[in-house]
Amino acid sequence: MKDQLPVTRPFLPPLEEFIPYLEQIWANKQLTNNGPFHQQLEAELAAYLGVEHLSLFANGTLALVTALQALRISGEVITTPYTFAATAHSLLWNGIKPVFVDIDRETCNLDPERIEEAITPATTAIMPVHCYGIPCDVERIERIADTYGLKVIYDAAHAFGVRHKGSSVLRHGDLSILSFHATKVFNTFEGGAIVCPNAKIKQRIDYLKNFGFADEVTVVAPGINGKMNEFSAALGLLQLGHIDQALSRRASLHHRYSQALAEVPTLEVLQAPAEVEWNHAYCPIFVKPGHPLGRDQLYEKLKAHGILSRRYFYPLLSSLPLYRGLPSAAPERLVNANRIADQVICLPIFPDLDVATQDRIVETLVSTA
Ligand SMILES: *Cc1c(COP(=O)(O)O)cnc(C)c1O
Repeated sequence: MKDQLPVTRPFLPPLEEFIPYLEQIWANKQLTNNGPFHQQLEAELAAYLGVEHLSLFANGTLALVTALQALRISGEVITTPYTFAATAHSLLWNGIKPVFVDIDRETCNLDPERIEEAITPATTAIMPVHCYGIPCDVERIERIADTYGLKVIYDAAHAFGVRHKGSSVLRHGDLSILSFHATKVFNTFEGGAIVCPNAKIKQRIDYLKNFGFADEVTVVAPGINGKMNEFSAALGLLQLGHIDQALSRRASLHHRYSQALAEVPTLEVLQAPAEVEWNHAYCPIFVKPGHPLGRDQLYEKLKAHGILSRRYFYPLLSSLPLYRGLPSAAPERLVNANRIADQVICLPIFPDLDVATQDRIVETLVSTA
């Protein structure tokens, strides 16, 4: 329906501020292939996020696929079923077998307690997701990876700007990938990046996203076309100037939801742990047993009131026909993921959501208690 309030709206700075960027693109006529805005955005984003290096991509999915290629991952990779389809799809695109492991009930992230039992001689890596932007247990995952000689690639599509114990959560693992899709906290219409710990791996990734070209006549790998264009890079630069304001607006909306829904114990708002500087990328609530309406009934009720919430992440990846034949996809092995997928609703949260509309959403929710 057209006039439904969406769960998110893209964050767009004023159009007039974008015009000078367009004029510059038209003037210098470099539209892609590591143009000036591309170089500038790589540098400014790395500085803003507090990471060493970063390689921009056309989208987050190509970044995931390329990150796996760059580290030559093969065999089996341990990952979470409670995520967006692209996480596990990127494994299939590389001929890798996903091995699903259950999530932690509190954080919705891969449960480190359950990782070791899923490791086999074919395991080469772990691909956790910082779900909703809440950091995984990065220290424990790193210890397991070190013990078994595994690589770690974080799907950090939700974790733009998230800091954990005083530094960027993107500094953990061998690589982290970001998504700058229109629905994400920071967007370049479509876009993404791989966060790299050193210049050497960034070099390899830069080759891989440009067909494997190392120079005009040297092709070092069967690379893909994953390059970000100048238009998207310019949008990124423009957004960067407004991102702190957008993040603080998200935080205050999340705080208002938490306060207002505190009076309804059967609607639990997900909170980040105290040591996390969160980006409030999503506002998931869990419809607990005992709430007069079930999750799907609540979803329909909101919809009838013109509010389009989303059931992220339902259905679970492990329940899709594509994945459910895997031994690791059996529901009895993924108890928490299945339970949470059946309870979750993500409420609308985006920087220009006004408080009157938010109050209307809250009233509708409270009226169901
Ligand atoms: C959005 C998203 C992706 C994919 O990013 P795109 O830029 O849309 O390709 C991957 N993983 C997760 C967890 C996401 O939410």
